[in-house]
Parts: sequence; structure tokens; C-alpha cells
Amino acid sequence: MKKISIIGTGLSAIFSAIHLRKNTDLEINLFDKARGLGGRLATRRAEGGKFDHGAQYFTIETINNLPEIQMLINEGVIKNIDDKDIYFSPDGMTNIAKKLLMDFNIHKEHKLISIDKKNEAYKLFFENGSTFDSDYIIMSCPMPQSLEILDKSKIDYNNNLTKDLGDLSYFPCIVVMIKSEMKLSKLNKHIGTDVSSGNISWIGDNHRKKVSSIENYYTIQCSPEFSFENFDNEYEETNEKLKHEIEDIFGSDYQILSNHKWRYSIPKNFYQGDNSLVINEKNFLGLCGDIFTNGRFDGAITSGLSIADKFLNNELQK
Ligand SMILES: Cc1cc2nc3c(=O)[nH]c(=O)nc-3n(C[C@H](O)[C@H](O)[C@H](O)COP(=O)(O)OP(=O)(O)OC[C@H]3O[C@@H](n4cnc5c(N)ncnc54)[C@H](O)[C@@H]3O)c2cc1C
Repeated sequence: MKKISIIGTGLSAIFSAIHLRKNTDLEINLFDKARGLGGRLATRRAEGGKFDHGAQYFTIETINNLPEIQMLINEGVIKNIDDKDIYFSPDGMTNIAKKLLMDFNIHKEHKLISIDKKNEAYKLFFENGSTFDSDYIIMSCPMPQSLEILDKSKIDYNNNLTKDLGDLSYFPCIVVMIKSEMKLSKLNKHIGTDVSSGNISWIGDNHRKKVSSIENYYTIQCSPEFSFENFDNEYEETNEKLKHEIEDIFGSDYQILSNHKWRYSIPKNFYQGDNSLVINEKNFLGLCGDIFTNGRFDGAITSGLSIADKFLNNELQK
């Protein structure tokens, strides 16, 4: 049985794995550097409550026909708001990944460092010292991370196709997770709101989304400018800088329970060529991710399906 390795367990990786499983008898293995599944679908527990600290809500218009999306709706893993095309995951966004990846071979805490050629196939080297042989590879990491791996690898691929990928970049995002005594009245009817404050751009209500059973658990996303300027600072310093703005919104009775930094949150610019990219056709090596589409939930899925389709077409032609 031939093997394909998919790097990442975010949405693009998940949907490429699902599509390949339906249409091939490959052995599929997914590897992620993180301890949890889902990439930028991320949920965290703190003091009995929970926070979504990555993607917050999404639209499904372009992916509505996928059976997996219908299954998620039917099983209550995702729900919409007021019959609108605005969906969220009541138990936390990570649950989407957990549900969809239930029966796959997953290797968590496997950070791919480099790839070597091995006969007509590949050898993958991970930070934890392990290696894995694979016939084909799909990489779904944010582009700078995929390029770093390719740079360190001794493999053949079409450099013409990758030369402009270094221009693709993402906004960073610092996230602050707070428990407040005061309910944010603006959020009585909404799961999140834009904030017209300098350093804070958006606040989400985890209780209203049913992510947190405890009330007044809010996720604060900092503006791209503030996130960029403070990315390398300690959280203590960042939180101190935000103190006045947070107090203006919540009063002084709040506690910061957690922070997170996304170096790659939302793409700044996009790959223009197609929804994914094959850089070696002979020994299939493909790239996918939200930067190939629209930088969102539905776009990441579209990209994952696209690279899986390219794999199928590529192999059929051999
Ligand atoms: C703060 C924030 C808010 C957002 N809000 C929204 C929103 O409201 N609506 C919306 O539609 N979208 C939102 N997004 C964007 C959405 O989350 C992404 O478009 C989507 O989840 C991207 O999926 P992906 O598969 O392309 O990448 P990712 O989910 O980033 O998956 C890439 C995976 O690769 C793994 N990886 C990276 N390097 C390695 C390595 N060397 N070895 C092994 N694994 C590796 C990572 O751990 C990760 O799991 C938000 C994102 C962030 C960060």
C-alpha cells in the first residue's frame, strides 16, 4: 500500500485527507507539530470555562454541498445564528477537527523539519528525532513554514513554481482571553463585535457561542498593528499596555486567564494562480492552505479539496 503524508491537521489538511480516503486506498498519515488538532481552529480551557482563540465563526455557502458539512450540522457540531450563513461550533472550534479526524492516523507533536529523497520516495525528519517514509506528501502549513521546510530539504521540486511564494505573508494576531464580572451589553445579541478602539479589533463572547458554560468569557483579538509591534514582548508587558482599553470596555473587574500569539493568523496577500499548488508531479509533492484561496474557513477547505483532486488527476495520468 502506498503512503501519503499530510503535514498539518487544520481544515485544508483535514479535507484533503477526507477526499483522498474516499477515492484511493492509500495509507494516509497526518502529522502536526502541535499537541492538539485543528491548527487555527483552536479552543482552550481555563478555570472551568473555555475560549475559542483562533477562528471564531464562518460561512458555508461555498461548501454547503459537502456531506461532512451536513454531518456536522446534523450532529450539532456546528450551528448557525438566526438562520443566517454565520456558523460556529457550540463546544469549541477544535471539536470540528476532532470529529472529522476521528478515524485517521494522526501523529501529534511531530514537527516536520526536513525531507530527503529515498529511492523513488521521501523520508521525513521530525524535530522529535523520528523519521517516516512516504511515497507522496501534501504540506498545509502556513507558507513561510512550508518554505522553511523545503529550504532545509534535499529533494527535487520545480523552483520556478515556488520562487514567488516567499512574497506571501500573514498578519500576526495577539489574543487575550478574559473573564469579566461585567457582561458586555453590546454582545447580548451577537457572538462577537468589532471594537473601535486603537489596539483591540474584535471581541467574542464564548458563553453566547456556548463554547463556555461559564458566563463572561471573552476573547479579545488585538489589531494587526499592535500585534506586530508587540509580538516578541512578554505577555505581561502586552497585557499592561492593553489595560486602559480593556478597562474602558469591561471596567476594572476582569481577569486575564490566558494569552495566545498567532504569528500567521490571516493572510495579507494571496496566491493568485490556483487553489493549491503541485511542485513535484513525479513524486507527488503538493501545497495547500487558506493562502491559496480567501484566508478563511471555507477557503481552507476548498484548497484541501483542490490539492487532493490534483493528486488524483496526477496519479491517473501515470
Ligand atoms: C485569530 C484568528 C481568527 C480567525 N478568525 C476567522 C474567522 O472568524 N472566520 C474564518 O473563516 N476564518 C478565521 N480565521 C482563519 C482560519 O482559521 C483559517 O483560514 C483556517 O483555519 C486555515 O486552515 P489551514 O488548514 O489553511 O491552516 P492551519 O489551520 O494553520 O493548519 C496548518 C497546520 O500545520 C501545522 N504545522 C505548521 N508547521 C508544521 C510543521 N513543521 N510540522 C508539522 N505541522 C506543522 C500547524 O500546527 C497547523 O495545524 C482566523 C484565524 C485566526 C488565527
